[in-house]
Formats: sequence, structure tokens, C-alpha cells
Amino acid sequence: MSAQYEVVIGLEVHAELKTDTKIFCSCPTEFGGEENTHVCPVCLGLPGVLPVLNKKVLEYAVRAGLALNCEIASFSKFDRKNYFYPDLPKAYQISQYDLPICKKGYLEIEVNGRKKTIGITRVHMEEDAGKLVHGGATIATSRYSLVDYNRTGVPLIEIVSEPDMRSAEEARAYMEKLKAILEYTGVSDVRMEQGSLRCDANISLRPMGAKEFGTKTEIKNLNSFRALQKAIEYEIERQRDILEEGGKIIQETRSWDEGKGVTVSLRSKEEAHDYRYFPDPDLVPVVIDPQWVQEIRDSLPELPDAKRERLVQEMGLSEYDAGIITGSRALADFFDQVVAEYNEPKTVANWIMGEFLRLLNANNLEVAESKVKPRSLAALLKAQAEGTISGKMAKTVFEEMFETGKEPETIIKEKGMVQISDEGALAAVVEKVIAANPQSVEDYKAGKEKAIGFLVGQVMKETKGQANPGLVNKLLKDKLG
Ligand SMILES: [Zn+2]
Repeated sequence: MSAQYEVVIGLEVHAELKTDTKIFCSCPTEFGGEENTHVCPVCLGLPGVLPVLNKKVLEYAVRAGLALNCEIASFSKFDRKNYFYPDLPKAYQISQYDLPICKKGYLEIEVNGRKKTIGITRVHMEEDAGKLVHGGATIATSRYSLVDYNRTGVPLIEIVSEPDMRSAEEARAYMEKLKAILEYTGVSDVRMEQGSLRCDANISLRPMGAKEFGTKTEIKNLNSFRALQKAIEYEIERQRDILEEGGKIIQETRSWDEGKGVTVSLRSKEEAHDYRYFPDPDLVPVVIDPQWVQEIRDSLPELPDAKRERLVQEMGLSEYDAGIITGSRALADFFDQVVAEYNEPKTVANWIMGEFLRLLNANNLEVAESKVKPRSLAALLKAQAEGTISGKMAKTVFEEMFETGKEPETIIKEKGMVQISDEGALAAVVEKVIAANPQSVEDYKAGKEKAIGFLVGQVMKETKGQANPGLVNKLLKDKLG
């Protein structure tokens, strides 16, 4: 980013709500399934049907809004957003326009050690559209397209931020925090790769110090953190190049081409839709009781920021470790469950940050897919603390636990890995090693401390690494006086 321009970024995020049924009918929301099997006259928008709001959708929208520090509207309504598209059978989408369910919220991000509050303009409820399945590689080269309406009517919340972000890193941090909050509250399964969390980014540049915003472009459907960051970085460069050459930014919608690493124009403002919003006459306004909102507020779990604070303050974790562990609810829950069985938070954090995350990443697995259960990791750490196995053995055992899901005790037994901490058993090996290495013994007696390391090594070799190194050290020193 050159010194004379400042970037202004706002994000619009769509999150699919984790309800069993759709927003206005009782069709299942389940992902996948044979095309056009999760449909009924209501979500297909056939004439004469009446939508009825799923109360769970309202509850989840309120829950998300509360977790994002929003005001909850006691009176809100649904509107028709009119546009024509093949995956939208009614030719309008039921959404919320001027009276959204939640507004004026915020969340906190941290980039390079600096905390910043990002405003949330609104959170509103809407229905998802269907999906086009193209007959060719791209929409432009396809000879035909098919429509799958299974997704039609799946409940969404759209979370619109204030244009408060000033770098691609801040945008990414916002998205990560938002994802974590939605995951903690349990309102969405936030799977970006399955499209249950999708992001559009609005980006503009303005001269440093200017008050007015520059002309913005919108990048549609960013479906990974990497794509979000890369697309914004590219778009900043592209806009800056145009401005520095004296050109003008055209207000338009663009998409991110992951393969080429560029944003490409989809449509300009002139072609943009005029949605002609008007209140949906089929749905009654949403009036909610403050008592019910309070009940939802009381049922909120500990959220990522509070949890992170607790891990640092009460458990002595570093800010960095606490940030990673609380960055996903699944990982935070895993940590809590291990600590419940083995109350050494720092040791547990080290294992999670080290071996556990390393193996998850290497195998491209989510925490939920791990074969290692929290109780088993706790058992392994206990075995290590009790001296049954060494730290090095523990890592080997953990790798096998990760691969097979076996309990640590089973693996330790099967591999005959138990650390030898029996003085009697080790004394004999120590004697043998002393007798076989007179030169090292002499060196040690002559004051060469290093020689003892060699002797310890020999004992470890004799015992196939199973001797307790601390004990071997002590025995050798005792013998060599
Ligand atoms: Zn339906």
C-alpha cells in the first residue's frame, strides 16, 4: 500500500443457519442429497402457497445478533427483493430491508498486536437461492445449465460490517473472528468450503486524510480466508495503479479468479439490479418479547474473547497460544476437556499447539475428525508425568494414537514402550556399560563432564531407549563417584 492512498473495506457475510428445516417451510436443510428432492410448493414459490417463519431461524438470528453486540429490534419485517435469476423461482427473494432484526453491533479484532473495534451495521434474515449446475467448465462456455432447488429457502443471516477495515489483514481477522463467534453460538456450521459461510468484500481507495470515500468495487463470493486476503490485496493494487495513472475506478461487481490470482469484472453499476424492495404481504411483521431476548442472552456460551482472556489470566497461557486455541470452538472445547482430566493447562496447550495441530494440518483434518479424544490425550500426558514413558516416547505414542485412535495404554503395552524406572534393572545395565567403556570412565574421572553423556547414550542404546534418562544419569554418577 503506497503512502498516499488509504484502503477502505467493508464486508457482507452470508451465514447459513444450522436449523433442521428451511426458513418458511418444513423441507430439510441438509447439505447434498439428490437434486430437487428437498423441495415443496412453498420453497419452490408455486402460486397460492403461504410462507410461515421458522421460529428457530428467528432465535438464531437474535442469538447471533446478541453475540455481535447488536441492538435487537422488537419490531421487524420481511421484504421482497425483486430480481430475475434462474435459481430464484419466485423472481424475488424474501429478505429484510429497512427494518432488520439486528443493528448497531461490533466485534473486536487484533492485528499485529493492535486491537481494533469493527462496527456491524446490521444482521438480517433471508432465504437462500437455489444453485445452477453448469454443463461445461464455466458459465461462459456451458451449452446448458441445470437448476437444483434443494438450497432454495435455506435460512441465512447476512452480516453487514461498517467500512471500518483498513487492510487485507484486518478484513481477514474480522472474518476469522466472525466465523469463531458464529461457531461458538452454534447458529451456523460455518463451513466455507461447503458454502455455509460466504463473503463479499467492498473495497475503495481514497487519498490519505480524505474524509470522503472513493468509488468502490465489490468482490463476490470469497469462499476461503486465503481467497479473501489475496483478492483484497490484488484489488488494492489494481485500484492504486489506475488512480496513480490518473484513471477512474468504475463502480462494479467483480469476482476472484483463484487460478489466475486476479479479480475480473462481472457487471458494472449500469447493469446492476434495481431491487424494488417492498414489504412481503404474505408474512406478518416480527414482534418479539424482550423477555425472550433476555432468555437467549442468558443462554449464550462463553465467547472467544472472554475465553481467551480467561486462558491467559487464569491458566497462564501466552496471548498467542490462547488466541489460536480459542480461534475455533472445537479446538477450545478440546482443550477444556483435556484440562478437565489433566489439570496442567500449559502442558496441554503445548501439546495442542505442537503435535496435535501439526498432525491435523499435515493430514488436512478438522478437530472433529480427530481420532484422538481429549480423555486419551490426558491419559498420555499423565503417563508421561508419572514417568511411565519418556517425552520422546510420548510423541511416538501420540502419532500412533492419531493414526489409529487406540488408547495410549494399549499402544504402550503393545510396543513394550514402558520406560524403565526400576533402579535394580537399570543398575545391571549401568555396570555393563561402565565395564565396556573404560576410556570414557577415565575421561569422566579426569574431569571431562561430557563423557557422562556418552555413557548415558550407551545405556539408552542397551535398553532400546526405554531407560529413564534422569535415573541413568544419577546411577552413573553414583557409581563413578
Ligand atoms: Zn419447502
